[in-house]
Amino acid sequence: MSELAQIGVTGLAVMGRNLARNFARHGYTVAVHNRSFAKTESLVADHGDDGTFLPSESMADFVASIERPRKVVVMVKAGGPTDAVIDELIPLLEEGDIVIDAGNAHFPDTRRREERLREHGLHFVGSGVSGGEEGALNGPSIMPGGSAESYVTLGPILEDISAKVDGVPCCTYVGPDGAGHFVKMVHNGIEYADMQLIAEAYDLLKQGLGASAAEIGQIFAEWNTGDLESFLIEITADVLQHVDAETGSAFVDVILDRAEQKGTGRWTVQNGLDLGVPITGIAEATFARALSGSVPQRTAAAGVLRAEAGAWDVTDRDAFVEDVRLALYASKVVAYSQGFDQIAAASEEFGWDIDRGAMARIWRGGCIIRARFLNRITEAYERDADLPLLLADPYFTESVGNGVPAWRRIVSLAALNGVPTPAFSSSLAYYDGVRADRLPAALVQAQRDFFGAHTYQRVDKPGVFHTEWSLDRTETAQ
Ligand code: NAP
Repeated sequence: MSELAQIGVTGLAVMGRNLARNFARHGYTVAVHNRSFAKTESLVADHGDDGTFLPSESMADFVASIERPRKVVVMVKAGGPTDAVIDELIPLLEEGDIVIDAGNAHFPDTRRREERLREHGLHFVGSGVSGGEEGALNGPSIMPGGSAESYVTLGPILEDISAKVDGVPCCTYVGPDGAGHFVKMVHNGIEYADMQLIAEAYDLLKQGLGASAAEIGQIFAEWNTGDLESFLIEITADVLQHVDAETGSAFVDVILDRAEQKGTGRWTVQNGLDLGVPITGIAEATFARALSGSVPQRTAAAGVLRAEAGAWDVTDRDAFVEDVRLALYASKVVAYSQGFDQIAAASEEFGWDIDRGAMARIWRGGCIIRARFLNRITEAYERDADLPLLLADPYFTESVGNGVPAWRRIVSLAALNGVPTPAFSSSLAYYDGVRADRLPAALVQAQRDFFGAHTYQRVDKPGVFHTEWSLDRTETAQ
């Protein structure tokens, strides 16, 4: 073969096809392969103009068409298919070659695969890719894990095709083995929280003001010019102003109110429980989707459960809108703060040494949670790389603190008027919990010692103690 490819992509459904085109458009010669050859042929037929593709029908030819050390991007359905492709690749690859799994793998799978390929002398890079099909084509946010050694040759190519913000690539080395897919998982969890918070803000504006979807869309468009500026706020404004062609109604009003999920939110919450990190915003967002889909329960409750709620009486509409905006901002910072805590905890647990400021930086463009305020998060971690709580950074202390009265008003009004705001409410509860001088956890510890002899510590002296609750209630040091 005369010309060799600098990179290969196997799995040419919507994501793989667009990634391959993105590589080609950046001047790389791209080897392309798909289990069924038709997709490979159609890519070359439809988009041959994007650059140079080297199509192969067999995996062996595909591998042979890539220069060494080979860089093979696997973009197939996550789970079993990824393992099937890896099984096929291993005997064909040579020491030092790099396999990049750019699909949405669960990070424990990535850790397992990395270990397996390492035993074969191969690098395995589990890489988060965010931005959907549009991002894959025009510049995604890329979160590669794996060995630092593999990043030396792979990194520049990935940075080249990633989104850029102020000329800075939205791609950086995340950390060993599963770190990249872990960070992508948390990104998706934060995305869940962000979407739920926006949905709650919409509901409050709808119920509190009796405003139409289009009017609320205009409010979101206005918000998108300030601190909340982000892709999700932008598309919310767009969606809310969209009219259904068939009925002439606001589009959002003809959509069935059951939110689905593919599972990354669930993984994030499961991991939060494993690590003991309170990611309440992400958890409430995930459960809110589950509640929306709880059809038998919703049917049983409808018209039966008493609301006993007040009626909205918003006299100053502008002040109310501003309160909702401040509550949204504060709740959003809580969700990010919790997500970054989760990254820190996993980094510690797995020895990944993840730079959280760099993660905020590569999320500024290309991905779904891209937002103006990520700059502020990067700056916070630049001020203190070991910041124990993002909320406690001076910028966020100030910007969230200014909104606390509004946040309390909104959460109280929502409760009084019977509007469910699980993410707003739990974020405020977290804020009050994490800042509390003293928590009722002391009582929980006493209860645990009472029924299970689980022991407790005291505020006035060191040591671990147990009280003989069923005897004479003497206290013994353990
Ligand atoms: P997909 O629908 O998840 O998967 C289809 C691709 O997988 C096809 O190329 C298919 O080949 C291949 N495949 C399935 N089973 C296979 C097997 N046993 N052996 C070999 N190949 C197999 O494709 P996608 O939507 O482009 O997503 C690809 C990956 O990116 C997934 O992990 C997804 O979670 C992730 N992702 C997707 C998005 C998105 O917006 N869609 C965003 C970020 C990440 P055939 O054509 O032969 O069936």
